Amino acid sequence: MKEKDIFKMDYYQTYYFADICNTIMENEFEYLRTLDDFWGNGHISNFIKPFQKYSNLHMFIEFTIDRLFYESNQNYSEFTIDELLNKRFWINNTLDYHNIEHISFKEWYKNNSNISTHAEDLMYKYLEFLEFSDFYIKLKNQMIEETFFILFLNRKFLREFNLNLSGILEISDIDDINDFTLVKQNKLVLKRKHIPKWAEKAVFYRDRGICTYCKKDLSGVMNISNKYHIDHIVPLEKYGLNDVSNLQLLCESCNTSKGSKHTKISNDYERWY
Ligand SMILES: [Zn+2]
Repeated sequence: MKEKDIFKMDYYQTYYFADICNTIMENEFEYLRTLDDFWGNGHISNFIKPFQKYSNLHMFIEFTIDRLFYESNQNYSEFTIDELLNKRFWINNTLDYHNIEHISFKEWYKNNSNISTHAEDLMYKYLEFLEFSDFYIKLKNQMIEETFFILFLNRKFLREFNLNLSGILEISDIDDINDFTLVKQNKLVLKRKHIPKWAEKAVFYRDRGICTYCKKDLSGVMNISNKYHIDHIVPLEKYGLNDVSNLQLLCESCNTSKGSKHTKISNDYERWY
């Protein structure tokens, strides 16, 4: 197996991040303003490019982590400079856990103490420095990869996520008509695109080579006549997106009976043993 296909799970607060992503999707109305920052203001154009390896779900996890990073820094506004110099911040602990070498507030302060005499300003500047640093990018990539690994298995979450995105696509103004196709009068939906091999493989192995609805074996080992289909969970006709997070494995007959109207997923998973 190639080295690039393997990554190390540190499991540092991974479930916490996954849970927050899930909570946002399950309580979309409570998080309307948050979500608007994610897909409002024409951001939908980032999500319609077909089958990006850095998928829409990766982008959502990144957005959630950035937001938590920002919020976790609201707690330091009451400290004095001396207190800050002796304090360990969430971000420092997290970087340490992942063995990412970085510049602590204390080290940073040595060269930047002239910026301000206010603890809050200094803290703000330090965090700004961190936010655009290579350490934070490295940390974020690790956390995004780990969180994606967990959430990609959760078809219930994937359905919610893609239903939300499709709702935004439905009400969006369309800039580039070339990505779209007219299915009914005034109804423009995304064109069907070729599903790349890597996306097909990811879905096939995630769903363990069985139809997620009827559990028919589609691996070609036990039965060579069962053909597998890679289905859009939220159909393109219902404003679904061409993204790896919007795919599931079905057999031919289940896919045909699902058609282009439904967004059904199965919450059944085969036990490990
Ligand atoms: Zn089936």
